[in-house]
Amino acid sequence: MGCSLLLQDHCFAQLKNDYPIQPVLFTQVHVTDAFWAPRIKTNADVTIPYTLEQCRKTGRIDNFLRAAGKLKDDKRTSFTFDDTDLYKVIEGASYSLRSKANPGLSLYLDTLIGYIGAAQEKDGYLYTFRTMKNSKPHEWMGSKRWEKEEDLSHELYNAGHLYEAAVAHYEATGKKSLLNIAVKNADLLVKTFGWGREEKFPGHQIVETGLTKLYRVTGKKEYLDLAKFFLDLRGTAGHNNQRYSQSDKKVVDQHTAEGHAVRAAYMYTGMADVAALTGDKQYLSAIDDIWHDVVDKKIYITGGIGATGSGEAFGDAYDLPNMSAYAETCAAIANVYWNNRMFLLHGDAKYIDVLERTLYNGLLSGISLSGDKFFYPNPLASLGQHQRRPWWDCACCISNLTRFLPSMPGYIYAQDKNNLYVNLFVGSTSVVQLPAAAVTIKQTTQYPWDGKELLTIDPSKPASFSIHIRIPGWVLDKPSPGNLYREEEKNTALPEILINAKPVKYTMEKGYAVFNRVWQKGDKISFDLPMQVNKIFASDSVKADRKRFALQRGPIVYCLEGPDNKDSAVMNIVVDKDATVTSSFEPTLLAGITVLHMRGTSTKRIANSDELERSDQAVTAIPYYAWANRGPSEMEVWIPGDATVAKPKPAPSIASKSKVSASVDNPRMYRALNDQYEPADSKDGSASYLHWWPKKNTTEWVQYDFDSTYTVSSSKVYWFDDSPWGGCRIPASWKLLYRKDGQWVAVKSSSAYTVTKDGYDTISFEPVTTTAMRLEVQLPAEFASGIHEWMIK
Ligand SMILES: [Zn+2]
Repeated sequence: MGCSLLLQDHCFAQLKNDYPIQPVLFTQVHVTDAFWAPRIKTNADVTIPYTLEQCRKTGRIDNFLRAAGKLKDDKRTSFTFDDTDLYKVIEGASYSLRSKANPGLSLYLDTLIGYIGAAQEKDGYLYTFRTMKNSKPHEWMGSKRWEKEEDLSHELYNAGHLYEAAVAHYEATGKKSLLNIAVKNADLLVKTFGWGREEKFPGHQIVETGLTKLYRVTGKKEYLDLAKFFLDLRGTAGHNNQRYSQSDKKVVDQHTAEGHAVRAAYMYTGMADVAALTGDKQYLSAIDDIWHDVVDKKIYITGGIGATGSGEAFGDAYDLPNMSAYAETCAAIANVYWNNRMFLLHGDAKYIDVLERTLYNGLLSGISLSGDKFFYPNPLASLGQHQRRPWWDCACCISNLTRFLPSMPGYIYAQDKNNLYVNLFVGSTSVVQLPAAAVTIKQTTQYPWDGKELLTIDPSKPASFSIHIRIPGWVLDKPSPGNLYREEEKNTALPEILINAKPVKYTMEKGYAVFNRVWQKGDKISFDLPMQVNKIFASDSVKADRKRFALQRGPIVYCLEGPDNKDSAVMNIVVDKDATVTSSFEPTLLAGITVLHMRGTSTKRIANSDELERSDQAVTAIPYYAWANRGPSEMEVWIPGDATVAKPKPAPSIASKSKVSASVDNPRMYRALNDQYEPADSKDGSASYLHWWPKKNTTEWVQYDFDSTYTVSSSKVYWFDDSPWGGCRIPASWKLLYRKDGQWVAVKSSSAYTVTKDGYDTISFEPVTTTAMRLEVQLPAEFASGIHEWMIK
């Protein structure tokens, strides 16, 4: 069986169990505002064509032609999951076709889907890396199908993204071309996997949500059963069970968020889907516990999750470093998916609070205003070493953004019988089919810059139904549903809400103002969400945020960035926690933003003195999502409220005035050497460092070309060493050279060179007068090395 496009909503309703609340699909919502509409347009005009072209240039499309036997060049791309980038951008392109016709793009998608179909094996297997029969097969994929699935082959991960793309393409275009390929592949999985047959779980989750989507469209219950099998197999005996891939325990025995954050959040999303479709209570109780663990202990104020780059994973409770924050863009997208599902299960606005925080901050920061540069990690502090990039070999975040942004209108409304939920405040028009009537609902607002909202309700006939309007947690000074973040000022006053210009009393249910009445054509609901600036404090357990506060206005989290502040510096700024903060809208700055203004103090080191020079200054904050659109600079979300946690602007030194060069082809790492930022220890990833990974057992160098001739007689160096998990160790040996008559000459020292972890190695030598010094480093036999700081005196 199956449903035609027109019957699809009806078909959804035929499923015996599903989410009690159903989203109003993005296809029903037309966004017209000044904030999201331009971003969705940039995604359609720039990001999607750009990513499609990158997929072509990098050989990702050729992978399909190789598998189809149409290209015989014995090449391939880098990762066994590269097929998913094409699937994800097809998903995004399909969505974008729905909001704006584009015959050229539509035709190109047909061509690409033709390639995908040609790459599919007769029995439905679709995985270009194996089918293309490369003379040097990728070591992750194993010698036969599924052999390394629980490890790194990503065969099922590819399948999951194929299904998500296929359902989107079908929903958006009505065409079954990609859906048929997906169904053929899913039928092979059904035949292959199951208790007593091939018992393998996906190393990287997403096939679970892909299968539930395919089940909803086709009605084939085997797909739902298979999704449940993949979940239930995790953590059973005899498998590649690891915390990294959420398989160290059975899923129903997991109560905390662990391991690789994207895998985890996709899995929790899949568990929510299966719980909704089967009524499974054990899944529910597990993901409820995990959700609390995240909001109480493991989420950034930006909504980012997955604090550590080591394993791209959730860190320990309260371990939320700012400069080394990983907070992968894909994890933010997954967090939106998961929290939306939690809302659809429970009907509580607190999940949308998390969704909104993530959406406007840690997710949106993943893409530049121009739409063609991207963040993979989304740090909350920077010395300028972080910049968005046009591409990565592992392009997951880029293709994920292409598919997420055009689907964003699908998070604005939801419905449950005659209850209509208004979750997000976005200028838009949509038609929602309630049992009582078809309702056209129009939102007029300048959100997120202004809290004034006007909802016009046009039912097809006078009808009785309830409208649930979300009152965001930040209105009631509850910035986050958990107890990780708080505001000092308590505001418990609910906003006044007017219907047809008259104030109306209302009750609150699960975070929603509820209005149940007979609605007439042209009824108007209006209110004004108070957009005061809130100072947010983290729990004392979060070491990185102690004596600091963050600024939030409406749903937007702010940061200080160099270009808006004195000396292009922000790490040296202190703002009193009681300082008055004002705001102004700047229409031409960073595509139009509300800027925050306050007074603060800044400190500078004075050369050859322990004294600090302190001065008053104006301090300006911009929305976090908009940072890093004006070149490299300092940035900080958590503002010191106390001079003891600020970093005084360094005094000029021989090193800081030098031109840096090194045997590393990434100049963004150079400034780490002379930024005078003291690491806490050798592994301190929140201090910047230069490294030679993945080289090993080679001789490398860094060099300072002085701004003038100096006589120097000592030097000290602090090594980066991320043992035991990382690839860098203190070096095997090192030596110091100076430039003499165009030659590098070793300095003469009476003491030996020491090699120390977690502290400086200092060397004193016979004074030399020179214009440049070089530090030569011998890497260990099996590891790389790195340097936090290198000073000369
Ligand atoms: Zn990613």
